[in-house]
Amino acid sequence: HACPQSAFRFAPSPNGYLHLGHAFSALENERLARLNGGRLFLRIENIDVDRCRPEYERAILEDLTWLGIALEPEVRRQSEHFDDYAQALDRLARMGLIYPCFCSRTDIMQKIRERAFWARDPDGSPLYPGTCKHLPKDKIQERLEAGEPASYRLDMGKALNLIGYRLGWTEFGSGMVGRFVQASPQKWGDTILARKDIATSYHIAVVVDDALQRITDIVRGEDLFQATSLHRLLQSLLGLPEPAYHHHGLLRDASGQKLSKSLRAKSLRALREEGLSPKAVRAKLAPLPPLIAALQTV
Ligand code: GLU
Repeated sequence: HACPQSAFRFAPSPNGYLHLGHAFSALENERLARLNGGRLFLRIENIDVDRCRPEYERAILEDLTWLGIALEPEVRRQSEHFDDYAQALDRLARMGLIYPCFCSRTDIMQKIRERAFWARDPDGSPLYPGTCKHLPKDKIQERLEAGEPASYRLDMGKALNLIGYRLGWTEFGSGMVGRFVQASPQKWGDTILARKDIATSYHIAVVVDDALQRITDIVRGEDLFQATSLHRLLQSLLGLPEPAYHHHGLLRDASGQKLSKSLRAKSLRALREEGLSPKAVRAKLAPLPPLIAALQTV
């Protein structure tokens, strides 16, 4: 069934060169957008201005053109939209759902070392022990006025009380048939929504952009599956539309490690220089079973 309004997006971060894992994700977006008669947008996720570079952004555009991925001409660049993210945070602040946190990583680690056991969030960071949550209002004001840098954290308990625990999303497979997945945002604890250095975060930027770009179908790697719980919570708190999601499997190297920039997976441009053709890349990257396949067996 062709649904002219459906919109997909590929959202890489220009903090390194794309590798085959990115090509796979872009091709999955293209394939599923085509199957659904949807449009595919490119978004450059460059809120991390220290790590993102224009030459990587140029390389992303070159690589996608080389691969022959059909993209809509408008490209959204997150670094041009910090105001949109600030507005969303402001809204959460007015709802009493965020609080400033002055802790450094070391402060948090010290606090946690006093305990025998401490749970971690899906990214592996320790759940925030709540040190700054109950600081007196005048103390907070004093420290902010003195210019002490603060991050802003979501008050997860309050957010859950507001939204309740009956939150979920449609996870769709290759035939676009969906299945309801229960969200578990509580796994993230009082997570950071605005970093000290950039005053926003991936989680805020991604939900705001998906809404502003009217994205209906999100196709991305299963490493972001847990983040979707938090994204659904934020969408619900901010009154944003609810997209459907498809988390695809991740490409792995011979030792079973997922391809990643930090582990120096070979870049698409290096493969191109070695003479690999876009056709060969497409042939190499036949669809992996999507996550929904695994969900159905549990
Ligand atoms: N920018 C993220 C990345 O490169 C992807 C975000 C998303 O698809 O939601 O891993």
